Amino acid sequence: MARKFNFSAGPAMLPTAVIERAQAEMLDWNGSGMSTMEMSHRGKEYMSIATKAEQDLRDVMAIPDNYKVLFLQGGASSQFAAIPLNLLGDKTSADYLNTGMWSKKAIAEAKRYCTVNIVADTSDNGFTTVPTQAELNLNPDAAYVHYTPNETIGGVEFDYIPETNGVPLIADMSSTILSRPIDVSKFGMIYAGAQKNIGPAGLTIVIIRDDLLGNASANTPTMFNYATHADNDSMYNTPATYAWYMAGLVFEWIKEQGGLEAIAVVNKRKADKLYAVIDSSDFYGSPVAKNGRSWMNVPFTLADADLDAAFLKSAAENGLITLKGHRSVGGMRASIYNAMPEEGVDALVAFMKEFESSQA
Ligand code: PMP
Repeated sequence: MARKFNFSAGPAMLPTAVIERAQAEMLDWNGSGMSTMEMSHRGKEYMSIATKAEQDLRDVMAIPDNYKVLFLQGGASSQFAAIPLNLLGDKTSADYLNTGMWSKKAIAEAKRYCTVNIVADTSDNGFTTVPTQAELNLNPDAAYVHYTPNETIGGVEFDYIPETNGVPLIADMSSTILSRPIDVSKFGMIYAGAQKNIGPAGLTIVIIRDDLLGNASANTPTMFNYATHADNDSMYNTPATYAWYMAGLVFEWIKEQGGLEAIAVVNKRKADKLYAVIDSSDFYGSPVAKNGRSWMNVPFTLADADLDAAFLKSAAENGLITLKGHRSVGGMRASIYNAMPEEGVDALVAFMKEFESSQA
């Protein structure tokens, strides 16, 4: 069995050790005689799995006690609607930073519920930069400020956390959560689809400060109301039990790696190696401003786009798969989440150098 280096943006690679453990526990979890997929979500076995997963996530991210952690379904995309429904309260507008395709989607959905003030917009430069703090035209009356710290498609990542002067800051961390330590207390709410750094698709994590719960507008569907899930430990209905279990194994794996500090060191090194090979030749290019380059999603172009197909074919023959850029951007994109081993990045770097010399 040869596991390839899979540079998919998500669903993405999971740590091999996690998949092996899931395999070992597949038929009989811990002497229960059941797979975790077959357990009642309210049974004592599954409750122990769910509780431990939440505690491990709290430990790993140092989540303060006044935040609830919710294990939801519907993807990050469902939160685009749930956020205004839950957080507007008696306000009528919210501030949004427009820095890429995912912010755009969040904005389009929010417009169905409130006045959206675009307080920063990098569409003019093709979403290749991060707006500075000074460029943000924040409104003190906004119900909240929403942004996307890491734009998965553009490969643009904020190098700072915006200061919002007491207005709750809401972050779509789908493609950057768990990539490095962050100060959760700076955020009103953090949310993420699981299928990158957390686990398999089907699970969505919401981390929300207590005081933001309980103000949902009256027409909020029960299942979209965060208070429903906070009040029921994410067991109001049947949660995504297997994905939650798998996420728990990933959180344990992060602890075994030495936590997010250690993970961040490796992630930084992986990203640096990749940007170094891109910057060291005219054969490859990165469209993204240097201070906004993502650690997790690295888009790059070949100077001669006619070589794209040959590059992808040859990379795949070398076990380096899913490197094609998003259809809206073109070129290549290497997603190098936590589970991408450093050897995978080394192999990609070596391949890129070889491919370049083979074209000389
Ligand atoms: N936001 C970001 C930043 C993403 O990368 C993605 C998925 N690629 C989404 C939102 C949408 O997530 P989901 O598919 O879980 O709805």
